[in-house]
Amino acid sequence: MSSEPLVDYDEVLTRYEPVIGLETHVELGTASKMFCGCATTFGAEPNTQTCPVCLGLPGSLPVANAVGIESTIRIGLALGCRIATWSRFARKNYFYPDIPKGFQTTQYDEPLCTAGHLDVEVDGETYRVEIERVHLEEDTGKNLHVGGATGRIHGASHSLIDYNRAGIPLVEIVTRPIPGTGAKAPEVAKAYVAELREILLALGVSEVRMEQGNLRCDVNLSLAPIGSLEWGTRTETKNVNSLRSVERAVRFEMRRQAAVLDGGGRVLQETRHFHEDTGTTSPGRSKEEATDYRYFPEPDLVPVAPDEEWVAGLAAALPELPAARRVRLSEEWGLPATEMAWLINAGALGLVSETVAAGATPADARKWWLGELARRANDAGVELDQLAITPKQVAELTALVAAGTVNDQLARQALDGVLAGEGDPGEVVKSRGLAVLGESDELVTAVEEAIAGAPDVVAKVQGGKVQAIGALVGAVMKTTRGKADAATVKRMLEERLL
Ligand SMILES: [Zn+2]
Repeated sequence: MSSEPLVDYDEVLTRYEPVIGLETHVELGTASKMFCGCATTFGAEPNTQTCPVCLGLPGSLPVANAVGIESTIRIGLALGCRIATWSRFARKNYFYPDIPKGFQTTQYDEPLCTAGHLDVEVDGETYRVEIERVHLEEDTGKNLHVGGATGRIHGASHSLIDYNRAGIPLVEIVTRPIPGTGAKAPEVAKAYVAELREILLALGVSEVRMEQGNLRCDVNLSLAPIGSLEWGTRTETKNVNSLRSVERAVRFEMRRQAAVLDGGGRVLQETRHFHEDTGTTSPGRSKEEATDYRYFPEPDLVPVAPDEEWVAGLAAALPELPAARRVRLSEEWGLPATEMAWLINAGALGLVSETVAAGATPADARKWWLGELARRANDAGVELDQLAITPKQVAELTALVAAGTVNDQLARQALDGVLAGEGDPGEVVKSRGLAVLGESDELVTAVEEAIAGAPDVVAKVQGGKVQAIGALVGAVMKTTRGKADAATVKRMLEERLL
């Protein structure tokens, strides 16, 4: 895809200082759209959730969705923002097929929330990300380019448009430029999005499914020569939609921009596309300036003037936020800070927490999610929460191990079955015949065969070399293909020989 020259990552940092910035779009989980009553169900038949308002038909008038405004303010409060006492929507004018009105209703110079911050931790160090603004706007429709190899407009024979998404409330959270992250820039960017996602989940304002586009990131990056007083020219990589991709996009742009600057060139201010398959970016359109959009206040909507008492009530009713929750869980679970950090970095905190809530011990939940399941997610190249297993199923698996129904090895086989969609762990253990053998006829036979088959070992054991019994245990484990419990087998042998 990209044959552009790249500088080695470590080398970039010997000459340049990265500055990152993130613009995150969150689709709110409201039942209806932002300015009309249309439903917002994901995956509905194209163009079945539309009306004259969200299609921009002449004469139609918008009405703001109160839940959308409330959710935006709650996000602002969770990020420590100042909440405006007076705020207006604005028209951002541009012509594009997915914008049926010819403008997007958004907020410009009077956003609902400003001047917040979010602290994120990377490798034990805290980075403060300043939030410039949180504002409310509407999503666009979705273009589907048909006939090309890439799904992009280039090479397509024709395009289809689905307006179901047009008008869904979208909150944009914009950071200020984040300097001083150095070599950690990609990780800080990823950690910021991960932390933001946790907050949005805790607030319950969005499902934040990145794979469904509920949360999309524009990743800004610029490089400046070390010691320079001025920041470099930034690029904006659009619509990056996984945590891993955020990290990769920053890393790639650092390496690419360093090569441009090393060669005496200028980084162009432009938007770029991120390619999941190669981890590279390629140029999009050159960036418009704000003046190109001819913003002006939306005349069809009344200004929003949130009542201070109402806002104070919303602040008081915020749920426990992830940072506080982590401190509490770390104490409750007795896990040291480093282990908590691993859980968070692996995106496993919520999963472990739900697994504990479903009855597993914290140690067991942690062990399965960070061990076997993390390995499988990694092999499959997906996030942990995309694995086809629920916290409840993991809890059931740990219960089966704790009860001695399966050992760890059999539990891993049960996991194969669950991930393959064969049902809950208990069902898989039954259907695949994975249960550890109790003192059944089958096990008794295996034990007696082992004794009969090795008279020399039996003689050693009975002659006082008790450790030699291990060979007999091994023989039984082999004939039962690992399904016996070693301690039970040892006891049964001892009962017969000593
Ligand atoms: Zn509508």
